[in-house]
Amino acid sequence: MRIPVPTRRLSTKMTCDFCPGPTRPRRVTEHRYKGRLYVVENVPAEVCSECGVRYFHASTLDMIDRFLESDHPVKGTLQVEVVTL
Ligand SMILES: [Zn+2]
Repeated sequence: MRIPVPTRRLSTKMTCDFCPGPTRPRRVTEHRYKGRLYVVENVPAEVCSECGVRYFHASTLDMIDRFLESDHPVKGTLQVEVVTL
């Protein structure tokens, strides 16, 4: 199942696009694939308190891309299983 990752401008009060739930600012772990898989911790997001959908500001996603494309510190590495159903 694909998880929708809508991108739009965040305001202080936001309602989810997929349910009536309110969103709350959180720090989340996000995955990015840019030729290889990156696990990015501590990403600011608005998270729906009802259904859990995450909303990222476009500037946050740009910042992650710039961070990964530049020389960056690596906290650790993981071995990842790829499975299919
Ligand atoms: Zn929701």
